[in-house]
Amino acid sequence: MKKNTLIEKIDPDNIDSKVVEQFGKMLADGKTVIFPTETVYGLGANALDEQAASKIYIAKGRPSDNPLLVHVAEREDINPLVVDMDERAKKLIDRFWPGPLTIVFKKSDLIPKVTSGGLDTVAIRMPSDKVARALIKASGVPIAAPSANLSGKPSPTKPEHIIADMDGRVDGILVGGFCDFGVESTIVDLSDDVPMVLRPGAITLEMLKEVLGDVILDPSLSSHDDNIKAKAPGMKYKHYSPNANIFMVTGGIDRFVELSEFLLEMRANDEKKIAILCMKQNISRFEELKLKFKNVHVLSLGCTYEEVARNLFDVLIDLDRRNIDVAYAETFEETGIGVAIMNRLKKSAGYKFV
Ligand code: AMP
Ligand code: MG
Repeated sequence: MKKNTLIEKIDPDNIDSKVVEQFGKMLADGKTVIFPTETVYGLGANALDEQAASKIYIAKGRPSDNPLLVHVAEREDINPLVVDMDERAKKLIDRFWPGPLTIVFKKSDLIPKVTSGGLDTVAIRMPSDKVARALIKASGVPIAAPSANLSGKPSPTKPEHIIADMDGRVDGILVGGFCDFGVESTIVDLSDDVPMVLRPGAITLEMLKEVLGDVILDPSLSSHDDNIKAKAPGMKYKHYSPNANIFMVTGGIDRFVELSEFLLEMRANDEKKIAILCMKQNISRFEELKLKFKNVHVLSLGCTYEEVARNLFDVLIDLDRRNIDVAYAETFEETGIGVAIMNRLKKSAGYKFV
């Protein structure tokens, strides 16, 4: 049944406390609210209320074994939610909270199975976004909030990404600005001796190593072998996929330019709409191609790796708006935030390299 969605704008630099109170009360009453965070927009509900949390799965079309991330407003708020607080978790919290780092804890009985996707652990973070923090505080409860996209689609980083897909599926949408980081939080698991990153994000492996010493990336992230099981249940699902068929181009920009010309020649008669996704400084390299082939869109991913991370989902969503059939994307070095960029890009491309 279509819901009557309350949509309100909020200025992060001048937060209207009446609006925050109103949406906080909706969450306290078991309703669903979409809100901005510094990573991507989240689709929130009371993490402690089974019925409320189950509405998130319905709104997103999310498989029920894919657990929800829980968001808290203050560090102390995690105490009732977890058991056996690890010393390493404390160090990470001191260094990176509030911010885009999610830590997996052994859960207390307060967290219902619906929220944890049936696991005995719970993934928690404390966002730095002012609107998110104010809203969680106003609700008075921890908020389960996965990304606010339909399951399988790119995560939303701008208000316009949400309104089209989610109006009528949730009770409220709090409209803020363009999310700062643009990729979802780093998820770290401390259940083994060596901490493991289950999902790379803006808190990079290098940053985690500074605090924890040895840290590894979940081996399933480096390989597309279905036999290697991902530790984060959600990582196994099809993800970030626009309608366009995406291919990643390896071997540097000179090869990208040459190969694009060759591929476009081959496709000259099939009337497909093609997009080239590259860094802004490389756009001029495709000028000739644009003159020669009228069906080509050359889209900028940004000038720096940070900008690419911030823009990536927006550009992927834009492919559908432009009805692009096939996209060729530049690839990035897998260091720093490049690991998170390539993780999202590989998934959106179904691991297809040319
Ligand atoms: P999303 O909120 O849509 O960005 O997805 C949350 C991600 O966190 C998914 O990939 C989940 O599988 C993962 N996740 C949530 N809870 C846990 C947990 N307890 N252990 C491992 N991964 C988790
Ligand atoms: Mg998601």
